[in-house]
Amino acid sequence: MFHIYCPYCEEHREEEEFHPKGQAHIARPADPDACSDAEWGDYLFFRDNPRGIHHELWVHAVGCRKFFNITRHTVTYEILETYRMGEQPTITAESLAREEKADKVQVADGGQQTVGASDAALASMKGAQA
Ligand SMILES: [Zn+2]
Repeated sequence: MFHIYCPYCEEHREEEEFHPKGQAHIARPADPDACSDAEWGDYLFFRDNPRGIHHELWVHAVGCRKFFNITRHTVTYEILETYRMGEQPTITAESLAREEKADKVQVADGGQQTVGASDAALASMKGAQA
């Protein structure tokens, strides 16, 4: 059992009160009629599946019943922050990579996110790119 901070109730509540609802910050196309089938299909069906930082939509189902966003690390499952709808995350993969470069932690070239990856995983990723 762990607790999740609801930004509307402004307190930590048991995880069982919450439900994940998928990727956050998916913008509906302004003019759906102008979209190609590929663009519309991408909007409807395709979601990011990163190794590392992921922004997710959650609902406090057995509480205030409001939707909010969570920044979660998909490797460690650590919830790094929660924030209200309409707000932007303060922690992103890019901001974390910048901090880690400043701390001289290895980050793979080519923008590939390697936050939390083991040395063996990094080596296999580099091997796959070669
Ligand atoms: Zn709540």
